[in-house]
Amino acid sequence: MTLPQNSAPPDPDCLFCKIAAGDIDATIVHEAETTVAFRDLNPQAPTHVLVIPRSHYPNAAALAEADPATAAHLFDAAREIAAAEGLDGADGGYRMVLNTGPAAHQTVFHAHLHVLGGRQMTWPPG
Ligand code: AMP
Ligand code: ZN
Repeated sequence: MTLPQNSAPPDPDCLFCKIAAGDIDATIVHEAETTVAFRDLNPQAPTHVLVIPRSHYPNAAALAEADPATAAHLFDAAREIAAAEGLDGADGGYRMVLNTGPAAHQTVFHAHLHVLGGRQMTWPPG
């Protein structure tokens, strides 16, 4: 698939670049020109999907700065996934999380948006 012209090159050591390239298996639930989404290996809710840009950016801040259009695509993909998973009803809902940096519990340094739903969420987050 051809990447947009302002895309960052893949990082050969990056797990999510490898998933985006199809080199590591994942349960893919969405594929578009700039985004891919797959089920989290260690789900924290009945629905737990990660939406990633195909291009490598180390976190959401770097993505937003370099390619805000693709950052917006992550949110649109999340909306589509939430609807497909039945989370968008009037009494439903879902949480979108972008852990950015180690203090925010980011553990994979390729930007990703968590879509969590299917159970009652609490606040504040841990
Ligand atoms: P974060 O802590 O925000 O960086 O989230 C990284 C997420 O990636 C965690 O929820 C992990 O469970 C998830 N994860 C790690 N490796 C894989 C994998 N191979 N396939 C799917 N999800 C993964
Ligand atoms: Zn990457």
